[in-house]
Amino acid sequence: MAMKTRADYLASLADGRRLFADGVEVGPDDLFTNPQFAQSIRLVADGYDKHYRPGAEASGPYFTIPTTIPELRETLADLLGWDMVTVTTSQGLLALLTAAARIRAGLPEHADRIERYFRWCRENDVRCVQAITDAKGNRKLPPSKQDDPDLYTRIVERRPDGIVIRGAKLHISSAAISHELVVMPTKNMKPGEEDWAVACGVPVNAPGVRIVNTSYAPRDREDDFPISREHNMPEGFIVFDDVFVPNERVFLDGQTEHSATFAHALGLWERLGGTAHLAEQGDIMVGLAQLIAEANGTDTVSHVREKIAEMVIYATLVHAGLEAAITNAEPSPEGWMFPSELYTNAAKHYGAAEYSRMIRHLHDIGGGAILTAPSVADFRSAEVGSYVAKYMRTMDGVDGEYRARLFHAIRDLTADAYGGWNLVTMLQSGGGLYAQRLVARKHFDMDRAKRLALAEARMPAHLVAAGGESRS
Ligand SMILES: Cc1cc2nc3c(=O)[nH]c(=O)nc-3n(C[C@H](O)[C@H](O)[C@H](O)COP(=O)(O)OP(=O)(O)OC[C@H]3O[C@@H](n4cnc5c(N)ncnc54)[C@H](O)[C@@H]3O)c2cc1C
Repeated sequence: MAMKTRADYLASLADGRRLFADGVEVGPDDLFTNPQFAQSIRLVADGYDKHYRPGAEASGPYFTIPTTIPELRETLADLLGWDMVTVTTSQGLLALLTAAARIRAGLPEHADRIERYFRWCRENDVRCVQAITDAKGNRKLPPSKQDDPDLYTRIVERRPDGIVIRGAKLHISSAAISHELVVMPTKNMKPGEEDWAVACGVPVNAPGVRIVNTSYAPRDREDDFPISREHNMPEGFIVFDDVFVPNERVFLDGQTEHSATFAHALGLWERLGGTAHLAEQGDIMVGLAQLIAEANGTDTVSHVREKIAEMVIYATLVHAGLEAAITNAEPSPEGWMFPSELYTNAAKHYGAAEYSRMIRHLHDIGGGAILTAPSVADFRSAEVGSYVAKYMRTMDGVDGEYRARLFHAIRDLTADAYGGWNLVTMLQSGGGLYAQRLVARKHFDMDRAKRLALAEARMPAHLVAAGGESRS
């Protein structure tokens, strides 16, 4: 086997996959021109180009399993330069390997299958996405109590050579333009819910798989969407209509006691990657705030300086949390390095929860032209071009079009379709804030905190024994 080239990747998409967008099926002839897919496919193809090396032994850096803290740090730094499908390949497979390490004692054969699947993905240089979030129906009810049992993806048939699954996985980023769907349970399953405790690897083109897509990719006026015209990915609503999965690709088939292991493992790597993106996004927002304040002539105004200082502290603390998650990583018995659960979840929670407040500062500093700045095409107009340039200009050295382009970048990143995508994604990706609070609390040393508090209170020992038993 060898690494795939751009041409190999483009050819691999004509594999019979069933994709839908805006109500119609998109076949291989339209895929490369359809606005929901065209740019995202170019991005992934560029990634194949960038990483390609000849030779049977060559493999992409996104298949590296970090075994030291510097390697983990390097993977995180590299990830910021990868397209989203390459990121989900790395995160999804590292999550699977994390789950393998944690289930090995109880399910050695399943752990071995995961390792073989990982090697197969690396040798074939395929791209994977993480298909975890189920439709979930009524949130108050468990899978077995839903009025439709398919609302959580489940096993509908067990055969000697494999299983058949039915259900749907929602919001699966980039599924349509990847090769492999890494399916995992969305939450802990209890005894009696064996059919819903399923994890497996499913090819995108497997019979019975259909993907309905949405995208914030701009459909026109691309000059005014400087960020989203280049960085857009389809979101996939994946339907599994009785899909056969051979045993070799089944990683969990009914062992409810291990179901949460997969969700937690994915949460860990998703949130670590999310924190890395939030840290970078924080820096970019500081940069935009400072540039637009300078362009508006408000950079020395005290309330603007204070807001930018708050944004600087936000960005720096997210970086610090990321760094702590890496520095406090722990090795698995296999020698693989897994980031700290506590710092990863705390940092992701802080970055996500405060993200909208940082956007509020940016919008407050920028002003209304974030939404109303004339388009780049208006600057080219023979009739009005000179007027918009004259009135968008603020002072010597601040060209009108320069200022308008800054406003377009702020709108595109934070206030338009892609901005809305970012806002919700920062909160929900890797599970909502609640999930991060749960995991952070679980891994926090509560007993030590209570001991410190009792010591600070100078609590007499006989009262602690009577009323201070651990209830955490
Ligand atoms: C752009 C985007 C990309 C994504 N990419 C992926 C992906 O690639 N793969 C993937 O698997 N998932 C992906 N997700 C899904 C993401 O993980 C989920 O959106 C998230 O876990 C929340 O699930 P939900 O959307 O079903 O909302 P819900 O589960 O309905 O949650 C909404 C709110 O209700 C609360 N809630 C729900 N149920 C309960 C309950 N029983 N008790 C208490 N509170 C409850 C939640 O805490 C949350 O605050 C993506 C999401 C977005 C927005």
